Amino acid sequence: MAEINLANRTIEYTLRTSNRARNLRLTINLDGELIVTKPWLVSTRRAEKFVQQKADWILKKMAAMKTRGDNSLLANISAADYLKYKEQARALVIQKVVDFSQIYGLEYNRIFIRNQKTRWGSCSARKNLNYNFRLALLPERLVDYIIVHELCHLKELNHSSRFWALVGQEIPYYKEARKELRNI
Ligand SMILES: [Zn+2]
Repeated sequence: MAEINLANRTIEYTLRTSNRARNLRLTINLDGELIVTKPWLVSTRRAEKFVQQKADWILKKMAAMKTRGDNSLLANISAADYLKYKEQARALVIQKVVDFSQIYGLEYNRIFIRNQKTRWGSCSARKNLNYNFRLALLPERLVDYIIVHELCHLKELNHSSRFWALVGQEIPYYKEARKELRNI
């Protein structure tokens, strides 16, 4: 971790050197950490200067990420709430997976409800379906979309146009649903 002083604040950041990068690049990841990527030939001193020049942008973006993290459904919750929502999600997910799998004529193996910070669901090669316990906190139309999305991966393992056509059969509003979920 490198350190730099921006507007009287000490900011930690990760400096990466890349053979492929053509320009200096700044990224703030979902945890609000600053990553500076510099091309091989650019000096550390030049990179530091660049970070100084972009101080306003960096501080604003870091603050936004922190707010998002605190308010987000994907933020930490208490152990008691976790258990409560997990049971709610399990009941909801099982009922919907049974319904939609019959409509689609798709067979699955097992259903797991997990505590995942970065995804709403996933589908394994063993045909197991994983869903985030936070589904218990979402509006039903978004739950339906997430259920159907993972179910359709039982047939189409990618995000091809065939996959989206399959999702669209039952969830014609899937594009809006994706957009809404990105803003949560
Ligand atoms: Zn997918």
